[in-house]
Amino acid sequence: MKFEKYDIAIVGAGPAGMTAALYGARAGKRVILFEGAVYGGQIVQSRLVENYPGAPDVDGYTLAEQMMLPLRRLEVEVVSAAVTAIEQNGNEFTVKTTKESLIARTVILATGVTHRKLGVPGEDALIGRGVSFCATCDGMFFRGREVAVIGGGNTAVQDALVLSEICSKVYLIHRRDAFRAEESLMERLRTTPNMEIVTDTVVSEMRGENRLTGLVIRNVKTNEVRELAVSGVFEAVGNLPQNAAFAELVELDADGYIVTDETCETNVKGVFAAGDCRQKSVRQLTTATADGTVAALAAAEYC
Ligand code: NAP
Repeated sequence: MKFEKYDIAIVGAGPAGMTAALYGARAGKRVILFEGAVYGGQIVQSRLVENYPGAPDVDGYTLAEQMMLPLRRLEVEVVSAAVTAIEQNGNEFTVKTTKESLIARTVILATGVTHRKLGVPGEDALIGRGVSFCATCDGMFFRGREVAVIGGGNTAVQDALVLSEICSKVYLIHRRDAFRAEESLMERLRTTPNMEIVTDTVVSEMRGENRLTGLVIRNVKTNEVRELAVSGVFEAVGNLPQNAAFAELVELDADGYIVTDETCETNVKGVFAAGDCRQKSVRQLTTATADGTVAALAAAEYC
């Protein structure tokens, strides 16, 4: 079988992958970009992106669309397929996908992260039946109802604020009493009238037959157990990398993130990683696009 040859194969069409494609194509390289379900990555779940310079008050879906526009103009090949394995053959890579396989001189892994689950009884059976990971996407299904948000980071607090405008009451349940979320968000949270902040508390069970009807929660300090009659629960307990398919190819850290150097290059020459999937301290939209730039320019130089 004869495989198509590319200079740069990019795995993942979130902000990091799309930016890498832009810089790779503008460097005159033949680029192919693999997207999973939809392009845009995590930002498509954001109702309002407030921290991307030059694009004030834009919704995540529109921002993703704007990032894709120049790629269409540059005629970058964008393929809807999952990359299942990448094998090194001399100074080239065979990229295997759920569609066809191809050869690439360099690879940029921009696989992002996925939602961490709580792992409590009842959760798996009720996903999509009251258990959600995206307040912006699913909040409207719970208009006028009582819901809970789990977590203490920016996502949890932003989700709780979004839901407070739609739902009759929001419980924000956090396992500690100190929050990771920015102070400006915390201030808005504390002054939201239909918000109950429940600290030092974990969820021990999700209840309901066909739909979620309640949560069993436990205070970790007092051991007091309570049942909350909520019809929706939004989990915002952080993210997990999705790099298992590349564990044989590149070095991952203990948490599964790809280890890179300053140019986003992995321990394998010609393989780069960009965005949330790589080991780093700040995972933001701006740092994802910055990574995409750095990785693509380094890949273009290597080709
Ligand atoms: P995060 O900052 O990692 O927060 C996850 C939260 O979930 C933490 O409060 C953590 O508790 C809690 N948690 C983790 N595992 C849990 C478990 N098993 N049970 C109960 N609670 C659990 O995640 P994030 O909020 O999704 O944010 C990810 C990154 O994106 C962060 O860097 C964040 O700043 C950034 N972000 C930025 C914006 C923005 O608009 N600027 C918006 C969203 C996200 P502990 O605190 O006890 O560990």
